[in-house]
Amino acid sequence: MKQKKKLIKSAELIIGVVLLISIIGLVSINEAEQGNIKQVEGLFYLDHAPVRIEIEDGKISRFTRIEELSNDSEHFYIGPGLIDSQVNGYMGVSFVDMGGELTYEGVKKISEAFWKVGTTSFFPTLTTNDQAIYIKNFALLAQAMKNPGLRGSIAGLHLEGPYISPVDGFRGAHPLKYVRKPDWDEFMDMYDASEKNIRVVTVAPEIEGAMDFISKSRDMGIAVGLGHHNGNSQQITEAIDRGAQVSTHLGNGMANMINRHANPLWPQLSDDRLMISIIADGFHLRPEQIRVFHKSKGSDKTILISDVSALGGLPPGYYLNVIGDTLEVTPDGAVVYPELEVLAGSASPLIKGIGHVMKVTGCSLGEAIHMATRNPANLYGLDDRGVIRPGMRADLILFTMDDFEMDIKETIVGGETVYEKSN
Ligand SMILES: [Zn+2]
Repeated sequence: MKQKKKLIKSAELIIGVVLLISIIGLVSINEAEQGNIKQVEGLFYLDHAPVRIEIEDGKISRFTRIEELSNDSEHFYIGPGLIDSQVNGYMGVSFVDMGGELTYEGVKKISEAFWKVGTTSFFPTLTTNDQAIYIKNFALLAQAMKNPGLRGSIAGLHLEGPYISPVDGFRGAHPLKYVRKPDWDEFMDMYDASEKNIRVVTVAPEIEGAMDFISKSRDMGIAVGLGHHNGNSQQITEAIDRGAQVSTHLGNGMANMINRHANPLWPQLSDDRLMISIIADGFHLRPEQIRVFHKSKGSDKTILISDVSALGGLPPGYYLNVIGDTLEVTPDGAVVYPELEVLAGSASPLIKGIGHVMKVTGCSLGEAIHMATRNPANLYGLDDRGVIRPGMRADLILFTMDDFEMDIKETIVGGETVYEKSN
């Protein structure tokens, strides 16, 4: 009898222990699911002082100034993840039909490659093309944006063209056969396909129908960029009056030969209402151009973009594009037509622009980072990212700066470490 009681007691004990273990197990699973508090320390990008950032449920929950970093041997800067509002492709994948159909896997490949170079948000940019391609690819991108695999890294979509100048030079590399006048119904079909995710459209103000198109876009809350255009002073002013907010890659998408008085640069530089985006990869603009642009607009109204092409991220060498041209990715990161010795696109991700703009303008690290985070976030209404503040998405980068070169040590997207550099 006694023996039996003892057995029952041990059985109860075992059941009890098992229950307790399961409860403890459940609690820890719950904690993991709700997101444990994660802490990151670094030297704050604005003043280089040590800070601790706490992350909960994918967001910044606390920002604290500390005496010194816990691990004194590792001195990394900490800043917000970079936001690139103009990306044509990367790693051999293009957002328009340039060498193969766009797939979710291709989009994911770009996102993951960007995380390694500090870009935590980007705008896939669809350049001048056929309407069927737009509908198909905007729809695919809208679906991709909902996929948790991308961690919200696509912050919006950019339509660059097809409503741009048909004139050689201003048109840039956009195929003439697809360049056309603004057509609101056609654009609305794209907008619907994108599930209202087109955040910015780049147009030429001087083409027929552009002014109404700008007004209607602004009424819908879509930002308007002026690019690939030869607008005169009056047209540019009217476009700004109607709500155009940014010059798209100022200084590029322009003919080589322009009138010294009447050209699109002066009215865009002189109107304080207009922000500018610039390709600061070291090839697209001369240092003195960047200096002058930055002097007239200042660090608050300048946005860095990569405008990176499908060849970006690929090793140096020769590549055939879809129309059979041979392009070269040079060892220093330019894409050129070797036959003509002219630039054929950008191969550098946004990270390169940070050091370059500091080097040529003398601006601070904080200012350079704002040009690639806070400024585009403000312009495009991305109110959950772009700065480090409690409540914002925990999109963070830990990095070093050495001789104007930013090197990423760790990238955190939505609170999760998605990249860590191996030593
Ligand atoms: Zn362009």
